[in-house]
Amino acid sequence: MSTRILYIEDNLLNMRLVRKILMSMGYTMLEAVDGNSGLQMAAQELPNLILVDINLPDIDGLEVVKRLKEDTTLASIPAVALTSNAMHGDRDRCLAAGFDGYLAKPVARVELKNALEHFLKPDSTRMAV
Ligand code: MN
Repeated sequence: MSTRILYIEDNLLNMRLVRKILMSMGYTMLEAVDGNSGLQMAAQELPNLILVDINLPDIDGLEVVKRLKEDTTLASIPAVALTSNAMHGDRDRCLAAGFDGYLAKPVARVELKNALEHFLKPDSTRMAV
């Protein structure tokens, strides 16, 4: 099975951009357009990695990652914030909320590629107890 990446994003242009990049790299992309459906999909699909927009229509990305990290079956999945709020302190706020990584939008292909390679570990390693 190919590596599956869930992207939680309400902006369809960003969704399309990231979809294009992930597909060109051979990843399978799962998509959710708000926080609650994203959490539901994460629990159902157990993706290898989750990309999360911060400004979502229901609960924000910081709340999404908080709930992911509180869930023992989901906590080990790397979660990377994607936000256009590229302000000073934003990165620290994301990492403090539980994100494993942070990328500023618009995301560059090479940055996304590097982040994925950094955070994607073999299942055997990731699931080790
Ligand atoms: Mn958004």
